[in-house]
Amino acid sequence: MAEDTIFGKIIRREIPAAIVYEDDLCLAFKDVNPQAPVHVLLIPKKPLPQLSAATPEDHALLGHLLLKAKEVAADLGIGDQFRLVINNGAEVGQTVFHLHLHILGDRPFSWPPG
Ligand code: IMP
Repeated sequence: MAEDTIFGKIIRREIPAAIVYEDDLCLAFKDVNPQAPVHVLLIPKKPLPQLSAATPEDHALLGHLLLKAKEVAADLGIGDQFRLVINNGAEVGQTVFHLHLHILGDRPFSWPPG
């Protein structure tokens, strides 16, 4: 069950996290293995396993996450230069099956991603 991922435990405060933002719908916390000087994960509290599991019912939630991503980036001082990443599926790098947006910044990035 998606509720049983490590992110579900963070939402329920069963394990610690460096939380930088929270509201009724989402939570943002520092990635434990940062890939940039700023690396925060933004997750919905609803346990969607991945973006491809979203339905039209999630329309407002997904919009909320994008708007919060740019606000969290601004609060972290990277508001005009940041990268958002969503890994959808194990073959493209998803390891935790609770939807999350990586918010990365404060270093140069190359394209295409690896
Ligand atoms: P994914 O590979 O896109 O699924 O990203 C999962 C991310 O979760 C990785 O960047 C991990 O470093 C991060 N992560 C895993 N466990 C924890 C944790 O307990 N706290 C914070 N970040 C975590």
